[in-house]
Amino acid sequence: MSTNKWEEYVRRVVPYIPGEQPQETDVVKLNTNENPYPPAPSVKELLCGFDISKMRLYPAPDADILINSISERYGLKSSQIFVGVGSDDVISMAFMTFFNSDKPILFPDITYSFYDVWADVYHIPYKTCPLKKDFTINPNDYKQENGGIIFPNPNAPTGVLESVDMIEDIVKSNSDSIVMIDEAYIDFGGESCLPLINKYENLLVIQTFSKSRSMAGMRIGFAMGSEKLIKYMNDVKFSVNSYTMNTITQLCGTESMKDEKYFNQTVNKIIATRERSKQRLSELGFKFTDSKSNFIFANPVTKPARYVFEELKKRKIYVRYWNKPIICDYLRISIGTDEEMDKLFTALEEILNG
Ligand code: PMP
Repeated sequence: MSTNKWEEYVRRVVPYIPGEQPQETDVVKLNTNENPYPPAPSVKELLCGFDISKMRLYPAPDADILINSISERYGLKSSQIFVGVGSDDVISMAFMTFFNSDKPILFPDITYSFYDVWADVYHIPYKTCPLKKDFTINPNDYKQENGGIIFPNPNAPTGVLESVDMIEDIVKSNSDSIVMIDEAYIDFGGESCLPLINKYENLLVIQTFSKSRSMAGMRIGFAMGSEKLIKYMNDVKFSVNSYTMNTITQLCGTESMKDEKYFNQTVNKIIATRERSKQRLSELGFKFTDSKSNFIFANPVTKPARYVFEELKKRKIYVRYWNKPIICDYLRISIGTDEEMDKLFTALEEILNG
């Protein structure tokens, strides 16, 4: 194919590939770490009574109702919170705002596969640091010169949780750059490093409504940090698009944030199912990390992961598989309801022993 002169100036990228969203309804969907339970009941009430004449108006550009509900829940000033359209939007904005030096940013070699895509699209140099054999982070890797640091805690797709002490050590050793901790899965039994934001001006903690609050389809993420960091992020956001989050989303997010009881119930159900699932997986001969997230990263051992993935798909059970070095022996299995997990285990018994 011939290349036009103008194509030299195109911002070319290899995009991130999100997990499959099958359109059939009779599937067991354990491939994108969604929450199997509905959002807080007050979200439904709000939607049923929503006055559509409000759609005439632009949404509140600073999403103040939502920000206030988050600030109340976490005991922060509203000026310490930034909200965006999913944590993908928040992280992308944070990359654009803070990762702006010639030095490489650092993140693990096995991690959320959007980080290298954002680095490429914003022309940010990066260097990956190999995880140890047990998939934990080596903190010394993050003590070299860098233009910023990001990793999820717990990490994805491994589910491995790092300690707050280890993270503090990394933040402390990098006072000249911004350290971002992507806590998309922290609510499923991990300890958040949020308390550290009042001690370290260079730490940004990012969370989402997509997993523990069952609102992946609504697209709400948020970052928490020093007032200075949040101000810098808002300056960039308001230089790109001021009305990113729609009115309904702002209101639904606010309702969800207020219902602590429902949040705890849902999260505890998922944790209980995850622990039961670990038991069943070991009985089936799988090897896996001690996940503290809403998924388990598991190696079937007796049959190739890719084969098991394909056989499950034939039975309309979707899990995630990456044909990539190091992780190609693993399946990432999101935690569904107990019934969904039972269907998975029945299918696995058939595939592995059949
Ligand atoms: N970070 C990690 C580690 C994730 O796995 C995901 C989900 N794909 C995200 C961020 C983004 O989630 P969302 O945009 O739905 O908040």
